[in-house]
Amino acid sequence: MKIKAPRGTYDILPEEAVKWQWMEQIIQETARRFGYREIRTPIFEHTELFQRGIGESTDIVTKEMYTFADKSKRSLTLRPEGTAPCTRALIEHSQYNGTLPVKWYYIGPMFRYDRPQTGRYRQFHQFGVEAFGSRSPYLDAEVIFLLVEILQRMGLAEYELHLNSVGCPVCREHYRQKLIEHIAPVKEKLCKDCQVRYLQNPLRVLDCKEASCHQAIVNFPTLMDSLCDDCSSHYSMVQKTLQANGIDYIHDDNLVRGLDYYTNTAFEIHIPGIGAQSAVGGGGRYDGLVESCGGPSLPGIGFALGLERLLLAVDKLGCVPELRQPLDVFITVMQDDLEPQAISLLLKLRQQGLSADKDYSGKSGRAQMKLADKLGARYVILLGEDEIKGNFVTVRDMQSKEQFKIEEGLVPFLRARLDNR
Ligand SMILES: [Zn+2]
Ligand SMILES: [Zn+2]
Repeated sequence: MKIKAPRGTYDILPEEAVKWQWMEQIIQETARRFGYREIRTPIFEHTELFQRGIGESTDIVTKEMYTFADKSKRSLTLRPEGTAPCTRALIEHSQYNGTLPVKWYYIGPMFRYDRPQTGRYRQFHQFGVEAFGSRSPYLDAEVIFLLVEILQRMGLAEYELHLNSVGCPVCREHYRQKLIEHIAPVKEKLCKDCQVRYLQNPLRVLDCKEASCHQAIVNFPTLMDSLCDDCSSHYSMVQKTLQANGIDYIHDDNLVRGLDYYTNTAFEIHIPGIGAQSAVGGGGRYDGLVESCGGPSLPGIGFALGLERLLLAVDKLGCVPELRQPLDVFITVMQDDLEPQAISLLLKLRQQGLSADKDYSGKSGRAQMKLADKLGARYVILLGEDEIKGNFVTVRDMQSKEQFKIEEGLVPFLRARLDNR
């Protein structure tokens, strides 16, 4: 029986891996420019962290977690997202005692037991940022700038930014009551899930994907009308700052996000060009999270981007640049007994910073040249009896087909010509 990768997982083969490297380089470089530093947390955590940090009633926690008992009967969970682990690390290492805000980013695999579909896997990758310790609306704008900058540097200028404010616990509670009053008389029109959950969490009716629920809420009051003065002015500052810097957005009353700990700004980013499932990421403010995870009362804001979705977008929209990594030098050995010299020369070239390779399967001279071509080598060094006796090497430029006899200064010669390209 052939063993295959588990359902919902996949291999990133070398041809794809170069795209990931390209994407990650843009992400890391942009995050660095914005003053975010990388944090790496464990792949698994205590299950309780996600129950507390994400919320016991969310789909992630109730249905989608990879939870297991280790040999000491501890309940552990493969991380389904990155915010709760960052929050745990912030508290565990008292990072809030230093300069605020603490600005972190992470990039890596996450795990959810979800139904696999296009661009959605059980082991998937996220890039995310978290900024802890400031309530400034300018910080909300900054994380959105960072997100947009990454998309633009990847060539994804055609994005849609959806924006909303979900208020604070006080004004949201007002709105919840109002919403329940409006839902109650029409609850028969809602989908089965919403009929059950609307009393507990009426906001979820707003972002329910069922058409019946969509229709039922059309003329309902919006959260906007219920925002308290603080929340309302926070939201307008965010909007003004985005406008002043040329960032278009769509105000979206139904953007309430699934997680309980969100406050104020909520946003989602869509790339319409990739089809029905166009959301590539989102985030928002979560001023209640650090405290609910057992830390001090400390505000925070962040977002996460799904890298599989992003890759789907750049592939589909043709944004990936030419990523072939040609070889600088290939060494062709004309006689078996010259292998030791070839190996030493190869090592020397690599130590000097050139990419260099040779054949390891005893190919003929002609077959070696073919291989050099296939690997995209820009120069071939020919090593034969004449060369060894005469203490020189023959260098062939694979494009112009010119040949050079080099006695000294091989590396500077190659370097100068490679740099000239
Ligand atoms: Zn409020
Ligand atoms: Zn519904």
